[in-house]
Amino acid sequence: MKLLKTHAMYQSETIILDKNIDLDNLNNKLLNMKDSDSFIIVHKNGISNIIKNNIGIFSGNQFAYIPNLKEFQFEDTWFIKKPSINILDKILFINKELFNKYQTEFYIPIYWNIKNKEYEIIMPKQSVNSASVTFEYIQDPNLILVIDLHSHGNMSAFFSSTDDTNDSTRFKLSMVIGKNDNIVSRMVINSIAYSIDVNEIFNSKERIDFDKIKFRSNKLEIKRPKIKKECKYHNELV
Ligand SMILES: [Zn+2]
Repeated sequence: MKLLKTHAMYQSETIILDKNIDLDNLNNKLLNMKDSDSFIIVHKNGISNIIKNNIGIFSGNQFAYIPNLKEFQFEDTWFIKKPSINILDKILFINKELFNKYQTEFYIPIYWNIKNKEYEIIMPKQSVNSASVTFEYIQDPNLILVIDLHSHGNMSAFFSSTDDTNDSTRFKLSMVIGKNDNIVSRMVINSIAYSIDVNEIFNSKERIDFDKIKFRSNKLEIKRPKIKKECKYHNELV
């Protein structure tokens, strides 16, 4: 049985910015959001889906022009520092090295280590082949999953229907690396996916040496496609 997730599973308060709305009140409301609170704000320039969690306060925006409503703008706030662009560079490097060796997909997420206050690239135990990767999420209270990233081996960068199912969640920053290092990225808020630019996720100004970026990998199980063996004496054996 497949659990069908609906948006109704996630409760959001919808606020329409008509002439009766007091913008100071709204700003106060947003400043005092509790963890996992979320608001849908309908304003002059579209619909903003705002959520708070342990990484920050984020807004997914869908453009629409609704002239009778008040204007609204929201800038994402990160509670932890944004990851350096060099962390992504290191992942591209790791992915290339591993792909050259095994020709498969990989799951290479980025975690924030609460204790050490730094990012770590940690590949959990995973089973990989040329068209899929199966993994277990790391359960460690000191680690926050910040960027859920996997590669598509020799295929293009896109979010597959399996990726859509996996990303049908309260909040996620999700990325796929395809062939030739093409990348797609998106932010998911309450199961709604908003495509965002890589530069909105990574800090291009902070430079870190590759050696200083922590990386560890757990067991990789490489699955080769099974070759069907024809039995010459099949009829005799049966
Ligand atoms: Zn995928």
